Amino acid sequence: MKYISTRGLSAPVSAEEAILTGLAPDGGLFVPAYIPRFDDGEIEKLRSASYGETALTVLKKYLDGFDEKELAGIIEEAYASFDTADPAPVTALSDGLYVLELWHGPTCAFKDMALQLMPRLLSLCRRKTGIREEIHILVATSGDTGKAALEGFRDVPGTRITVFYPHDGVSTVQQAQMVTQRGENVRVYAVNGNFDDAQTAVKRLFADRELAARLKKENVLLSSANSINWGRLLPQIVYYVRTAFLLCAGEPVSFVVPTGNFGNILAAYYAKRMGAPIGRLVCASNANNVLTDFIRTGCYDRRRPFHKTISPSMDILVSSNLERLLYHLSDSEHVREWMERLNASGSYTVTDQVLTALQEHFDAAYCDDDEARRMIGRTYEEKAYLLDPHTAVAMAAAERLPLQAPTVVVSTASPFKFAKDVLQSLGDEGEADGFAALDRLSHISGLSVPRSLAELKELPRRFYETVDPGKAENVF
Ligand SMILES: *Cc1c(COP(=O)(O)O)cnc(C)c1O
Repeated sequence: MKYISTRGLSAPVSAEEAILTGLAPDGGLFVPAYIPRFDDGEIEKLRSASYGETALTVLKKYLDGFDEKELAGIIEEAYASFDTADPAPVTALSDGLYVLELWHGPTCAFKDMALQLMPRLLSLCRRKTGIREEIHILVATSGDTGKAALEGFRDVPGTRITVFYPHDGVSTVQQAQMVTQRGENVRVYAVNGNFDDAQTAVKRLFADRELAARLKKENVLLSSANSINWGRLLPQIVYYVRTAFLLCAGEPVSFVVPTGNFGNILAAYYAKRMGAPIGRLVCASNANNVLTDFIRTGCYDRRRPFHKTISPSMDILVSSNLERLLYHLSDSEHVREWMERLNASGSYTVTDQVLTALQEHFDAAYCDDDEARRMIGRTYEEKAYLLDPHTAVAMAAAERLPLQAPTVVVSTASPFKFAKDVLQSLGDEGEADGFAALDRLSHISGLSVPRSLAELKELPRRFYETVDPGKAENVF
């Protein structure tokens, strides 16, 4: 299977190259040259397959020439650290309404589903292509992705990772998560400044030719682990295939997905095209509702105010992974034209034909912070289930749309990860912050604090260094 660029101006590459390089040279995103379909034998097996077996069946379709035993090995390793035997358990809330919990990994959010497997896949690709350089991953983080990447890459052979976080831009718990990070190949720096400063510093490092030349002599290759890498998308297809086959008893299964960069919900689209029994795909947004408008009208318009919300991982105005869907619904000439328009004027409108094709699969709805808070309170009262603010946005969208059962609300974070906002939504008057909020939420809900968050207070701090954004190259 070859991978091609959504913009059509780069040569096709192998899966290994797509995963090792991340972005295509023409600025596009790598997509598989065709979307493979499950055959009848595979479908029969998938109906009763374990998570690991499903993962192997899906991965094999996109990674030909990989050793099956090696793939099975990295899948098992990746999900061994999860706190449930099934890495993506499904909970029934009421008749026909389910929650798919994607936060049982080491950092309590859905990024672990991909970031526990992708580094091991990268390491396999490195060995298969015979490149000798060590892969050095650089990450600028506003909090969550940095920790998930650190956990994913720690002690993975042939890789090393350095994370930059804004000194005053992350929460107490997020900072504790990063500065106590274990592993021999990890480093963490606070950047004097905000998230933009940290991101600018990392972009400068990637563009620094002198640095690249120096590192090349030391046998080091800089790379990134962000969500446009095909290696991050592929592991996400697995839980949609698994859940659809698990719950389908005739009617196809609809998914409601809290969306930011469009990576998670795009994986559901691939699962559907592969032949999993999937019905509607609902894109749920917070007050940053660019995608709601786009899916309803065909006009993508980023020229609007940016809202900081209680679901920060969805605070995004340009969803990079949408480009992959546009390619699958049209062609690379159209994608180039629309992306140029977006760049030049901040908006584009797709053709009626593409809009119709889009609406064949997707619905969209959004809700603001007040409604998300009410949804957390109401779901806890009526269903005795605790939602985090991102999942609450999806729950609100599920309620608003006329969906046929079975419907699955995709849950992307543990409520403990956003304990303070969850407490407020439950009407808890106390002013608990940081670690106190974790204990308080545990006390009133009767649920225990996830082990990886509870142990942070006891773990020794390993990283203290602060760098100026203009001098980040000094850390090498
Ligand atoms: C990253 C993230 C999202 C958004 O997922 P996308 O793939 O970017 O659409 C939603 N919720 C949480 C908790 C996340 O960490």
